[in-house]
Amino acid sequence: MPHILIAEDEPRIASFIEKGLRSQGFTTTVVNNGLYVLDILQSGTFDLLILDLGLPGKEGLEVLEELRGQGEDLSVIILSASSKIQDKVTSLEGGADDYVTKPFRFEELLARVKLRLRSGKPIRDSQEFLLTAGEIVLDLRRRQVKVGDRLIELPAREFTMAEMFCRYPGQVISREQLLDYVWGYDYNPGSNIVDVYVGYLRKKLGCNKIETVRGMGYRLRI
Ligand code: CA
Repeated sequence: MPHILIAEDEPRIASFIEKGLRSQGFTTTVVNNGLYVLDILQSGTFDLLILDLGLPGKEGLEVLEELRGQGEDLSVIILSASSKIQDKVTSLEGGADDYVTKPFRFEELLARVKLRLRSGKPIRDSQEFLLTAGEIVLDLRRRQVKVGDRLIELPAREFTMAEMFCRYPGQVISREQLLDYVWGYDYNPGSNIVDVYVGYLRKKLGCNKIETVRGMGYRLRI
């Protein structure tokens, strides 16, 4: 089972997360001081880091910066008491994969943990690099897309959006879910950016692949 490092100095929150994750079968380790996070990561095999921003010893953002500075691509989910957009943007630009604001429901964190663990890093089995939905095959390592025999180039955001559709083929995905997954932080919900990108994907993958479900979102046809 995946091994998750929880860097959180508030015992109540650390134990809440640890109990929840363990009940789901994950292996967990808790560290309560920012100074020790990198050492612990190096001492074992971890699949994901849940990182509180306000840590004693060393701030979460500093830890993240050093981690990425070492070229480490471990998935990182930031926990923060701040819901300020600027903090989210700073964390994500600093190399975090996702961001959860306290207080949060365990289910929300769990969903993000699962999404990150599925999203292709780290991957141990080469088969896990491939994501298949109907005739669409995504190579998550090479970031390539094939539709039948056609190899299609997709820029980063379009690839991530295609990835979301291929993870949930046949299921309706709302605009908010796409916005959250592809852009990862607060984006003007009134913006039509999701529709614009769905349009790009339709052009490249085939216009009948993604259908609009009125009032609900979009669905990949399989
Ligand atoms: Ca804290």
